[in-house]
Amino acid sequence: MDLERIEKTLRSLNEFGYSDRGMNRIAYSDEEQAALRYLIKLMEEEGLDVHIDPIGNVIARREGKQPHLPAVACGSHIDTVYDGGQYDGTVGVIAGLEVIRLLNEKGITTAHPIELIIFACEESARFGVATIGSKAMTGLVTKAELARLSDHNAMSFFEALEVQGLGFKDIREVVRDKRELKAFYELHVEQGIVLEHEQKQIGVVSGIAAPTRFEIKVIGQAAHSGATPMWLRKDAFAGATELVLAVEESARLEALNGTVATIGSARVFPNAMNVVPGKVVLQVDIRGIFKASKDKVVRELKKSIKMVENKRDLKIECTELSDELPVKLKKNIVQSIKKTCENLELAYLEMPSGAGHDAMNMAQLYPTGMIFVPSQGGVSHNKDEFTSIEDIATGVKVLKKELLQQAQIVEGEQIENEISN
Ligand SMILES: [Zn+2]
Repeated sequence: MDLERIEKTLRSLNEFGYSDRGMNRIAYSDEEQAALRYLIKLMEEEGLDVHIDPIGNVIARREGKQPHLPAVACGSHIDTVYDGGQYDGTVGVIAGLEVIRLLNEKGITTAHPIELIIFACEESARFGVATIGSKAMTGLVTKAELARLSDHNAMSFFEALEVQGLGFKDIREVVRDKRELKAFYELHVEQGIVLEHEQKQIGVVSGIAAPTRFEIKVIGQAAHSGATPMWLRKDAFAGATELVLAVEESARLEALNGTVATIGSARVFPNAMNVVPGKVVLQVDIRGIFKASKDKVVRELKKSIKMVENKRDLKIECTELSDELPVKLKKNIVQSIKKTCENLELAYLEMPSGAGHDAMNMAQLYPTGMIFVPSQGGVSHNKDEFTSIEDIATGVKVLKKELLQQAQIVEGEQIENEISN
């Protein structure tokens, strides 16, 4: 493991789009495309065969002894949110590159080809939709859906592709076949505080949570705050707070299943100190990797709505904004990563991923694994995002073992060594 090399590559990559406020390597921006060119140069120096698909996914291939076998792939993204961090996504790409470099150094040949993929437009920052590159690759988005997207400057998604010379015409040019990959792995920073809190080096992701979202309108009666006695009020805000606490409580009861629920947005109308609130609009985000557990929180929310309506004589409208299915990662891959951690004597934790990742789309077509490394203080999507090079190197070790197990070593000086530890 070459810590210095990992650090140097990460630093060089993060010169693209760097500012004091954070990283701005927005999808399909000049900074992002320049960073990709830099990485492509590094990948070609390692002898990889690099292909850019028409939506901007970069697929770099290290040929196997038996090229007709399905490839074993790993990858992540290098685009950032506005004023983002240096580790989200980049760590997975740099880790994949480090694995390739190590294999080359040791003269290891594998039976299956190995691929390193840099997914296009993972962050929703520019077009409001996340993981577009991997959605396209796995056939989870249509051209018509992409045609509706535009950025803050009213530039359409397709125009943005065109500006960068990507000649996208049809989604079929991007979709890959189920038989092309044997397995896919994504190494990523946790973006949460669990690993640090539990003092673990590796998170073995068991599933990727998907959000179910609601907008709730609590309608009461706006009234003078001085002239309206307490018993004649229909205070929408007071009713809304009962819902906030009820949602928190029902998610707490599902803590063992890893389900979380948040009411992170509340708009109070008319929002004046001297008026009893007549209307409140809440936005609820419920996430978990077990559908049954998520459903339970949803049912409790609906029960609470009825209860608050009756108790406070309010009218409450609940609209579902989205209901996505959580993704469970393949059991045998989860087991395999855990075993690899045990063999390497690493402290690991099996855990859900609360955030979405390219891996959740890849999991629809390919056996998929996700490896988390700790995020200092759980900070993410922010310039203070930090993961130590040592922690990244630990992730590289796990990723390398997994890729080699899947790709099968056929030649190389340290075959026995590689397989045994
Ligand atoms: Zn990411």
